[in-house]
Amino acid sequence: MSQREWIEKDFYKDLGVSSDASQDDIKKAYRKLARDLHPDANPGDAAAEERFKAVSEANAILSDPAKRKEYDETRRLFASGGFGGGGFHPGAGGGFTSTNFDIGDLFGGGASDAGLGDLLGGLFNRGGAGGTARTRPRRGSDVETETTLDFRDAVQGVTVPLRLTSPAPCTSCHGSGAEPGTSPRVCPYCNGSGIVSRNQGAFGFSEPCDDCRGTGSIIDNPCGDCRGTGIQNRTRTITVRVPAGIKDGSKVRLAGQGEAGLRGAPSGDLFVTVHVRPDKVFGRDGDDLTLVLPVSYGELVLGATVSVPTLDGRVGLKIPAGTADGRVLRVRGRGVPKRGGGSGDLLVTVKVAIPQHLDDQAVDALRIFLHAEQTSGFDPREGWAGA
Ligand SMILES: [Zn+2]
Ligand SMILES: [Zn+2]
Repeated sequence: MSQREWIEKDFYKDLGVSSDASQDDIKKAYRKLARDLHPDANPGDAAAEERFKAVSEANAILSDPAKRKEYDETRRLFASGGFGGGGFHPGAGGGFTSTNFDIGDLFGGGASDAGLGDLLGGLFNRGGAGGTARTRPRRGSDVETETTLDFRDAVQGVTVPLRLTSPAPCTSCHGSGAEPGTSPRVCPYCNGSGIVSRNQGAFGFSEPCDDCRGTGSIIDNPCGDCRGTGIQNRTRTITVRVPAGIKDGSKVRLAGQGEAGLRGAPSGDLFVTVHVRPDKVFGRDGDDLTLVLPVSYGELVLGATVSVPTLDGRVGLKIPAGTADGRVLRVRGRGVPKRGGGSGDLLVTVKVAIPQHLDDQAVDALRIFLHAEQTSGFDPREGWAGA
């Protein structure tokens, strides 16, 4: 069996399932085949034993959703003929710990160095003897942090300083890991590939190079400040421009502000989750601001112009005569700035405030008023279903 065949081995076919089979289908297919092909049930049958091995191997990958995903992606890449697009993203977990093959042979000079490194990093980094030390230079991790804004700042946009303690490129060696004035040299044992091959039986095995621990380079004089890793924990203060109108719970992405990559690889991204403190006056409904405006009964009956706050100064709100309690009045353009320009509205809900302490004059006047209201024919419960 050639290596190419080996890589292109169809685990789905081995189990007799389609490539979109559910995990349950895979489990069932494996159980049946394992029972039928088990060496105890087929003593001396070499073909059955081969099949049994193949089925076990296929099951080891396909029964683990993470490994299966990686296998699917790898196959897709092989099918599309290369790694150019960088579509292979190790790090999802799982891996081919039980499988080894020689990708170097397969791709000859065709595959780009970076793509190959990524792929092998993904395959070798699992089940992992070496952990991250065995990977080639790799983009730094994404970092998550959070910040809390005042309501009005969130609506209007604000620049906030964030203090972050995270790995960053070493300032002494600029991330190379080598003592300032020196530089890492290409590993002579693996020629900088980080990978060595050896043959065993039918297969070629690839392994991370021991001399350089898979990094492809050797540092003779490690930087004293970062012990050769190229990374230091640093507290940084960065300023983050939070766009106007951001909602509570939103995430802001700052490209390249995450963890530094090992030995000069690109940094990860920083994700800032933004929390917004409630405001005493304003609420929010999408792009609209909301506000509850206390009014008197008389103002609703007779109409009035009332001063209401907005985020930039006060405006006079006209309450039409005969406005019902609880009605929502709209002040156009005084809401939350929209992404594409313009703003939402300010929605003002009128709410009658009932006086608790009226002087005698007011009480007398109210009695006279109620009487007059009745004689003018007003019945608050007219048309009410409970009347
Ligand atoms: Zn350093
Ligand atoms: Zn090496």
